Amino acid sequence: MTQKYWLKIMSKKYIVFDLDDTLYYEIDYLKSAYQEIATSVSEKDSPSIYAQMLDLYTQKKDVFEFLSLKYDLDKASLLKTYREHFPHITLRNGVKQVLEFLKTQNVKMGLLTDGRSQTQRNKIKALDIEHYFDKIIISEEIGTEKPHPQNYKAFIDTAESYFYIADNPNKDFITPNLLGWHTIMIEDEQQQKIHACKENLTPDYKAQKKSTWEGLFKLIN
Ligand SMILES: [Mg+2]
Repeated sequence: MTQKYWLKIMSKKYIVFDLDDTLYYEIDYLKSAYQEIATSVSEKDSPSIYAQMLDLYTQKKDVFEFLSLKYDLDKASLLKTYREHFPHITLRNGVKQVLEFLKTQNVKMGLLTDGRSQTQRNKIKALDIEHYFDKIIISEEIGTEKPHPQNYKAFIDTAESYFYIADNPNKDFITPNLLGWHTIMIEDEQQQKIHACKENLTPDYKAQKKSTWEGLFKLIN
């Protein structure tokens, strides 16, 4: 075995990504679902219904309660549309370049996300990213949610080093930190993330590094 070959084996990486608010902004999913629902309520009035829904969301009001009362609709079916519609969403800036580069380097990649199977699968299809990943773990399909170790251990194979690249210190980094993975938090430079981060998290919960997508290359190379 040549030294070069050995070094190549040794440097084998497995890079696992989170989906929501990491590869795309979850607020874009919400807007896409609201658009679909507004159109289904009334094609003609959809712009004003959509604007009102967004307004209520910003005020932290119950958007579906409002719609169900005003238009005599079933709240459960609104929620079903929200979860099951095919979304119009796009990757965050810089994501595609990173995924493409890693693919050309034959780096193994995975996707680890919480949520319902159909909702998350639709997002993956809409973003056209399935072909990048060697393995996709969705909490509903595996039966446990982050930070359950099972969700992370599902990726462990012959790779030499593991990375988890995600956005939410409340649940994303504690387990991979304990497993000895590299953890990187993608910064929210556009201030668009949906979930606030809890304060007073212990260091175990935090990512080892923070980066923008553009800066990520330097960290993983
Ligand atoms: Mg996330």
